Amino acid sequence: MGGTVGQSCSTLVDELIARDGTGSKDNPITLEPMSKFPVIRDLFVDRSSMFTNLKRIKGWVPIDGTHALGAGPKESQEDQELRYQLSRCMTCGCCLEACPQFQPEGQFVGAQIFGQTLYFNNHETGATLKEDRLNVMQEEGGISDCGNSQNCVQVCPKDLPLVEAIAKIGRQTTVHSIKNFFTGKK
Ligand code: SF4
Ligand code: SF4
Repeated sequence: MGGTVGQSCSTLVDELIARDGTGSKDNPITLEPMSKFPVIRDLFVDRSSMFTNLKRIKGWVPIDGTHALGAGPKESQEDQELRYQLSRCMTCGCCLEACPQFQPEGQFVGAQIFGQTLYFNNHETGATLKEDRLNVMQEEGGISDCGNSQNCVQVCPKDLPLVEAIAKIGRQTTVHSIKNFFTGKK
């Protein structure tokens, strides 16, 4: 959209004009579908790969819901605030569209998955699946393939703390790998 990644539904024309004149009389706005996802029709793309990757990292809190669990574990205000920010991800794909490492046929999972891995690992109950998520993070396409260019954080419409997520997941994965090495798991 006008040479940048963004959502046409929430981009304001006056901001584009103020930025570089895009949208003014002599510089029309061009709308294009995202290039990293299969196009279904017009601007409509298929983002199902993002949901497949959410399943890969077990992006859920494992409770069965069949009986009362009582009060949950105490959570710090700091963790709650971080998780609130990460919970705002809407799987829009902007971070992946802007990412030089993310390619349609590639293995790299991208910033959205790093954010959601931190989101679920940071939760006391969600963390029961932390090891499984970090196994995915240490595979091909995981955190070590991130080039740290930070294009993702610049285009996220929800201002998710993606740099923090990448750094924290990188550290968690390193600790996990060392632990696996000494316990002979992987
Ligand atoms: S930091 Fe760069 S390589 Fe890593 S996820 Fe963000 S845009 Fe992609
Ligand atoms: S992290 Fe931001 S840019 Fe990426 S999918 Fe979520 S809301 Fe969209």
